[in-house]
Amino acid sequence: MPAKTINDIVALCKRRGFIFTGSEIYGGLGGAYDYGPYGVELMRNIRDAWWNAMIYSRNDVEGLDAAQISNRLMWKYSGHEGGFSDPLVECKKCGARMRQDKMADPTKCDNCGSADITEPRAYQLMMGLSIGAMADGAVNAYLRPETATTTYVNFKNVLDARPHKLPFGIAQIGKAFRNEISPRGFVFRMREFEQAEMQYFVRPDTDEKYFEMWKAARMAWWTDALGIPAEKLRFTPHEKLAHYAKAACDIEYEFPDGFDEVEGVHNRQDFDLGSHTKAQSEFKINANVMENKDSTVKLSYSDPQTGENFIPYVIETAMGVNRAMLAVMHNAYTEEELPDGKSRLVLKLRPKLAPVKAAVIPLARNVPELLDIATNIENDLRRLAIGRIELENSGNIGKNYRRHDEIGTPVCITVDHQTLEDSTVTLRLRDTMEQRRINIADVPAAVLEIING
Ligand code: ATP
Repeated sequence: MPAKTINDIVALCKRRGFIFTGSEIYGGLGGAYDYGPYGVELMRNIRDAWWNAMIYSRNDVEGLDAAQISNRLMWKYSGHEGGFSDPLVECKKCGARMRQDKMADPTKCDNCGSADITEPRAYQLMMGLSIGAMADGAVNAYLRPETATTTYVNFKNVLDARPHKLPFGIAQIGKAFRNEISPRGFVFRMREFEQAEMQYFVRPDTDEKYFEMWKAARMAWWTDALGIPAEKLRFTPHEKLAHYAKAACDIEYEFPDGFDEVEGVHNRQDFDLGSHTKAQSEFKINANVMENKDSTVKLSYSDPQTGENFIPYVIETAMGVNRAMLAVMHNAYTEEELPDGKSRLVLKLRPKLAPVKAAVIPLARNVPELLDIATNIENDLRRLAIGRIELENSGNIGKNYRRHDEIGTPVCITVDHQTLEDSTVTLRLRDTMEQRRINIADVPAAVLEIING
């Protein structure tokens, strides 16, 4: 049985150390969460799976890690300072604040059902900063609300350092900050979150082909790298396009409350490079861009064959890493009836994504002979450099198995009294609960096969 509500996941996350409420001991802070020992591992494994697919498996995408604090002009010309706002409405009866475009029924309060609702007003989503000793509290910089813009402004830097012919891309994983009106759905909508975005620069006449290519590639990643079944995912094209977009669609995952966005794939034409380039009038810019008087660099591409100099189009893939983790946990969350009438909770994660790769468990607590062997196995497994390995020395094997099922550890290795006689241990598999005895010498190879298999 899968998780019925997001609250099932919230409870597991807190109990087992995946995610905690930010600033919890002071009453929390809306839209901020802290990732605990297993949450950081799962996030890291999802990031690695993405980096692997976007950078290491290809020869046409470069990596970047830009600053999270940035010059105000960047957000003026990107259009965020003037236009990055959501329609805020307030219920006059209960005081709830909502995004009008996300309300179940825009004429009724989501919280109390009242129809007494204010007119929508634009609400600035960027978090302003006051940087420097002389700033005096005035906003002179912003925390970035997305990674994308910090990629566009580095287009020339990356291209000069790593020359590429079109098409080529730049990928980033990093924090983004938005002053969301109503953070909700646990880590689904936060004020501080993490994005994994890739901007692919293409010749203007090839944009439609690459838009389709990236849609297919990203959907394949959700199924193949994250192990989400295809029937829990779908594409939803945007009905209303932003003024700069030629095409846009979301990849949605089926959460307990229905399908919702986890990633976007967008054809942004020449809007971004065209907005930030110097000497805009030298180029034929198709998108409607603001006149830029401050940029100091031409963000154009010179075709080595034809000598033509132009502003490339951008195909963008934009994923939320926290939403990916939520989807992965929800998909893996399984409550099972056992033959003895009891039940167990097990997180059936892809072994590569599991926060702990293997646990070594001596059957009894503090028995030096058993602990020595277990420690040697633990050290052998650590040398594989496959991620986190744990040694449990509590002597409560049932409790240990239960804990590792709940955090998704693919395999446990149990050392018992028979081990002292014949150097064999029990390998216990998470999903089937199958147990088999193998030689200590064969443990590293067996664990590797489970993790990579
Ligand atoms: P939404 O419509 O849900 O506000 P968006 O269309 O503004 O999202 P993008 O700007 O395209 O989102 O960002 C790309 C991805 O970043 C989204 O698909 C989502 O996974 C993630 N994301 C966006 N906003 C948040 C948030 N407040 N908290 C967590 N993840 C987010």
